[in-house]
Amino acid sequence: MNVNDTTSAAVLEQLRRRPADERRILFTGATIVTMDPGLGVIDRGDLLVEGDTITAVGPGLSARDAVVVDATDTILSPGFVDTHRHAWEAQLRRIMPDVDDLSGYVMSTLAGYATVYRPADMHIGTRLAALTAIDSGITTMLDFSHNSRTREHSDAAIEALRDTGIRGVHASMGPHFGDWDRQWPGDLTRIKEQYFSSDDQLLTLRLATLATDEIAGMALAYGPELARVAKDLGIGVSVDAVFGASSSEAVLRWAKDGVLNPDVTLIHATGLTPEAWKAMGETGTTVALAPTSDAQIGLESAIPAVDEALSVGIRPGLSIDVEVALASDMFTQMRALHAIQRMRAVNAAYGTGQQPHRITTRDVLDFATLQGSRTNGLAAVTGSLTPGKKADLLVIQAEDLNNMPLNDPIGTVVLGSDARNISAVLINGEPRKWNGHVLDVDLSALRREVYASREYVLNTPTA
Ligand SMILES: [Zn+2]
Repeated sequence: MNVNDTTSAAVLEQLRRRPADERRILFTGATIVTMDPGLGVIDRGDLLVEGDTITAVGPGLSARDAVVVDATDTILSPGFVDTHRHAWEAQLRRIMPDVDDLSGYVMSTLAGYATVYRPADMHIGTRLAALTAIDSGITTMLDFSHNSRTREHSDAAIEALRDTGIRGVHASMGPHFGDWDRQWPGDLTRIKEQYFSSDDQLLTLRLATLATDEIAGMALAYGPELARVAKDLGIGVSVDAVFGASSSEAVLRWAKDGVLNPDVTLIHATGLTPEAWKAMGETGTTVALAPTSDAQIGLESAIPAVDEALSVGIRPGLSIDVEVALASDMFTQMRALHAIQRMRAVNAAYGTGQQPHRITTRDVLDFATLQGSRTNGLAAVTGSLTPGKKADLLVIQAEDLNNMPLNDPIGTVVLGSDARNISAVLINGEPRKWNGHVLDVDLSALRREVYASREYVLNTPTA
């Protein structure tokens, strides 16, 4: 058992001494879970990163001038891709772990806490969520930022993503309740120009919206008008709160209006009719499941709709949703979905003599990586360890106490591992976690800011 180089501060120092675009990193001797269907799992392989890009994966690689990282006894995996989380709520995390239903969350958080948020609160919540995501191996996070009360609130959320070095997707929406500037969605034009002018950058922009007018009125509900805003800006759309009969009707309306397509993501998708699913399948619409909020908070049927998605040919992404009530990491989503679907399948076949159709650990890891990237509109950029894609990857210790001995790499990632086993995280070729610690964070200062913001939010009377 060797102690590999990703626990070494000297290697990090060596890496950081070179300018990022001239840097070459060669990981050697790892078990590589590529999640690229053509490459599969490589038992003892090497992986070369040049600048921000993966340029080679395979056995016996060599590279001139590369910093060689001995990755023996580790698994290299693509970073996880979160397709929907409301990052600004992070300083209120687990404040209502046993919330009973959607309205309990909506009334306390969206109609309450959200209304007193200042730009500084947006910044610290979003930053905390993104740093925690990195720590637990999420390299791409779609921040469904639905508290954009002013331009400054949007700016703060975007700058927080930028400050952490995460591959962030800022999905912007106006707030549900309380006073706000009504600058959304018009302000998206300025946001695009100011922060998202390049096609090759770490942060991307999407329009965030709701399925129906039931929670917050017509202004936030998806339809041809908002579809046109997104189309004019050349950005994708993420639609939250897609569930039940009214959303099913909305889906059929969108299909008729021609505003469903692969650049549109429907989030949750619980309790939808077979007709709605058919329309989603036919239009190549993407789906973001939120296994724990569906099951734990109890959204509509409360069943994560993975069977429904797969039956119409949609491979979904996974998402974290609200940290006020739920776990923050992707391992929880993968395990919850794996267990729930297999329970559902076996239960449906019980006593019938039929074979249950069970998903596998490989399926859920695919959802958490490659399908997440596709869902976020980043399939060409991230989600698998494929030469040509950006270097968003995890070094997972396979011989730690809880993972030894390594018998099945995908099983070990999905069912065995957690944040403590992720010794290193690269995003866009840049080390963001090393030797088990998120880099460039002053934890004491962060904690002070988090507490100050939480105290302000909890102690300020809502209107
Ligand atoms: Zn949501």
